[in-house]
Amino acid sequence: MSRRRDVDAVVVGSGPNGLAAALALAEAGRTVVVLEGAATPGGGCRTTERTLPGHRHDVCATVLPLLAASPFATAIGLLADGAVRLLTPEVSFAHVLDGSQAVAVARSLEVTLDGLGRDGPAYRRLLAPLLDHADALVGDVLASHRSWPSDPIALAAFARLAVRPATGLARRFDGERARAVLAGLAAHATRPLDAPLTGGFALFLAVLAHHVGWPLAAGGTQAVTDALLARLAALGVAVETGSAVGTLDELDAYGPPRLVLLDVTPRQLAALAGSRLRPSQRRSLEGYRYGPGVHKVDWALSEPVPWRSDTCRAAPTVHLGGDFAAVARAQADVAAGRHPERPSCIVVQPTVVDPSRAPAGRHVLWATCAVPHGSTRDVTALVEAELERAAPGFRDVVVARASTTAAASEAVNPNHVGGDINGGAATLAHTLVGPQVRLDPYRTPLPGVFLCSSSVPPGGGVHGMCGWLAAQSALGAEAARASKNGRSARRGTSARNSLP
Ligand SMILES: Cc1cc2nc3c(=O)[nH]c(=O)nc-3n(C[C@H](O)[C@H](O)[C@H](O)COP(=O)(O)OP(=O)(O)OC[C@H]3O[C@@H](n4cnc5c(N)ncnc54)[C@H](O)[C@@H]3O)c2cc1C
Repeated sequence: MSRRRDVDAVVVGSGPNGLAAALALAEAGRTVVVLEGAATPGGGCRTTERTLPGHRHDVCATVLPLLAASPFATAIGLLADGAVRLLTPEVSFAHVLDGSQAVAVARSLEVTLDGLGRDGPAYRRLLAPLLDHADALVGDVLASHRSWPSDPIALAAFARLAVRPATGLARRFDGERARAVLAGLAAHATRPLDAPLTGGFALFLAVLAHHVGWPLAAGGTQAVTDALLARLAALGVAVETGSAVGTLDELDAYGPPRLVLLDVTPRQLAALAGSRLRPSQRRSLEGYRYGPGVHKVDWALSEPVPWRSDTCRAAPTVHLGGDFAAVARAQADVAAGRHPERPSCIVVQPTVVDPSRAPAGRHVLWATCAVPHGSTRDVTALVEAELERAAPGFRDVVVARASTTAAASEAVNPNHVGGDINGGAATLAHTLVGPQVRLDPYRTPLPGVFLCSSSVPPGGGVHGMCGWLAAQSALGAEAARASKNGRSARRGTSARNSLP
């Protein structure tokens, strides 16, 4: 790397968390450069014409409830100036039970209860008390590692339920409809449904479904990256693409910078740090636990998906997995290192709310399913078989498809270790403590070096909070160091002054 201009801070990686960190640092008056290994910035927040010209596919994230609820987005007014326009559907998501029947989880709790039949009252008893405090609760969960909760009682009530496995929460329901909805939500954690916290994942996503809905960004999630890049450009922050960083030593070309924020996962940190780490620190980072992989398929369609259930036609997000037992089986298979015969799939059909993503009459669609960590197997046929069951004739409307195996996902984005898209296994320890046992989860063993990716709290998803909170941690550490140096300098001065 040739000598570059000196800066106060370098951010490695330009996913939503890297960009959020850069913005927080630049707004605090620091000079910042962002180095991105890929040819385009944005990480999991990009949109490309992956299948055919004019068909805009989100590379990763599409459904943005976490952004809609993000204290970072609110603080910078990201959704207020029109640069990112969220399209919020009436139906947050649908869950397909047996192909012909589906349950809709609507933005409105009352509408949702109608579809849950005899489990409506139990669903209301579970969700309504949380929704009464949703504003504070959601913000507290997303910022819990750096601020006191604004509503500790609501947070404690949520935490008591959230640490439970989905199997435990499912016992509150007698019928299959609510149990299946819970299973489909818990499957986002890519953990067995009897693992602690899977209930919490389900519950938090359900709260968001009613509180802010499950919106999509008009034109594609690229709009989020473009809006953040525009703000960074206005503050003079350069984003250098095609600049994969191999070691932290390379960053000395920038000053060396006082602060380094890494939008990477712990194992990548170990590789970047090289001999700067003690052997025990290296072992701890290298031993960090990653989760299963994810297989993704993108399609261009000549017509909307021919769902058997009308419920699915209005829902941008559809969970395909069948009843609770079927989803649990698929998740257990993956955890045991097997490819499920019938994968549990998350399907997203953006053109339901955003026709601008495809030429007139055309549609775009994606689906993901969990697969064993590092899987190289192309499971597109299994995913399409699930779609055919719920939408006979699906294959006839496919114009083009593109698949990404778990292993290929890591080749495109080094943060997807083994195809894990969440920066680490969603275990209790990882979610509550972060990748290392430290009071401040954003700090690393190296002074001035911080983790700001989805491996640190509050974890995966597009909310920018990991980056925003990591930047606050970095600025706090810098201020503490400056004040300590100031005290030492003053002590030094007074010591000198007292010399005879
Ligand atoms: C298929 C899929 C679907 C998803 N769907 C959703 C969804 O609908 N809603 C949602 O909220 N979330 C979704 N997610 C998750 C979401 O995309 C991520 O949680 C989010 O992008 C994490 O942001 P990040 O900044 O931590 O990392 P990333 O977005 O992964 O960005 C990391 C960046 O760092 C770069 N980088 C890594 N190492 C280096 C290096 N050494 N030098 C330079 N650059 C480097 C990478 O190239 C990458 O650009 C999905 C993810 C996937 C894969």
